[in-house]
Amino acid sequence: MQEKAWGLYVHLPFCRRKCFYCDFASYAGREAQMAAYVRVLGEELAREGGALLRRYGPPRTIYLGGGTPTALPPARMEELLSALHPFLVGGADGAALAREGSGAAGEGTHQRRNGGSADEAVPAQEVTCECNPGTVDAAYLALLRAGGVNRLSLGVQTLDDALLARIGRIHTAAEARAAVRLARAAGFRNISLDLMYGLPGQTLAGLRESVRAAIALAPQHLSIYGLMVEPGTVFAREQAQGRLALPSEEESEAMYNFMTTALPAAGYARYEISNFARPGFASRHNLGYWQDVPYLGVGAAAHSYLGGQRYENLAGIDDYLAAMAASGSARREEEPLTRATSMEEFAFLALRTVRGIEKARFAARFGCSLRSVYADVIDRLAARGLLVEDAETVHLTPLGMKYGNWAFEAFLLDE
Ligand code: SF4
Repeated sequence: MQEKAWGLYVHLPFCRRKCFYCDFASYAGREAQMAAYVRVLGEELAREGGALLRRYGPPRTIYLGGGTPTALPPARMEELLSALHPFLVGGADGAALAREGSGAAGEGTHQRRNGGSADEAVPAQEVTCECNPGTVDAAYLALLRAGGVNRLSLGVQTLDDALLARIGRIHTAAEARAAVRLARAAGFRNISLDLMYGLPGQTLAGLRESVRAAIALAPQHLSIYGLMVEPGTVFAREQAQGRLALPSEEESEAMYNFMTTALPAAGYARYEISNFARPGFASRHNLGYWQDVPYLGVGAAAHSYLGGQRYENLAGIDDYLAAMAASGSARREEEPLTRATSMEEFAFLALRTVRGIEKARFAARFGCSLRSVYADVIDRLAARGLLVEDAETVHLTPLGMKYGNWAFEAFLLDE
């Protein structure tokens, strides 16, 4: 077996209710399809994932995302975790091994049991489940832990009850706090919270209060997202009707500035444009996306990046199930990546991280130096204070991160 790092993403497209800002591939009121979906997902996992497992060994990271994975009833989640069991490091023994690794990502180590020499220590596998407050209790969290999940990503968004109702979330701030407490009691030592800013009616003072309350919960990781009004959402309709009062650009910028300084000051180092972590707790799965690590996505709307090409599964639950029944695959190849688009993607994705583009990795991947392709862009953005070049990397400054999209555009290549 040839060792190779890869990630596994599993998409669960079910939600109790659609949040007012959400345009993700997630659907409310589809409980009747959950059983069929989990069964078919298990088949896709066994076939597509099994091939990678046999070839490269277990994935370095597993991520259950959605939607709301924890919208699955316990019996369906148990079935899904059983289907994932062979993918845990150690295979049949993997659940125990992943549990051992529930501390800091990269901190815990254990002996590889599925190939490799007996004394070869490897970092524990990171197994994340996205989870919404209001959908889990102690028994459900215990079920996730027993199934090998060792990291929870909680969609908290804000700890202001009025705002939670305004954006269509199903939970209260008290339920978010309870979810963190219950997760700790269940043995989770790696918990991430999502927070949003730029919400309708949100003030800088209110945001400060939510951030303070989130930090008081002592998560290991925090992700921040600015509200975007996406077509087809409740907020897009409200905006069209003139009923969506958003903070001004200056207010949103003040919120961004506050979060990007308050979180590092509280011990959460920024490691990517939107992500902050205690030392050793950066999300290894998401880092894989930004560092050109291949991944397999299973389930409706899941994306894969394999063999240098990108693929996307059909997004609708009905379409996914129908395609799987008809041909055993719901996968469609996206626009093929050319050498130029591969370079662009490599650059954009790496630039999202604080580490930036590693020159040696770019050279190893493309057989030419970063400067031979991007010298003009690097010099131009560096002169404007958006980017810094050192011996090993090219990375964005805090100012460059703020205007990330503008900086990324400069990395587009003419073909
Ligand atoms: S819980 Fe998440 S995926 Fe579901 S509707 Fe809300 S934002 Fe979208």
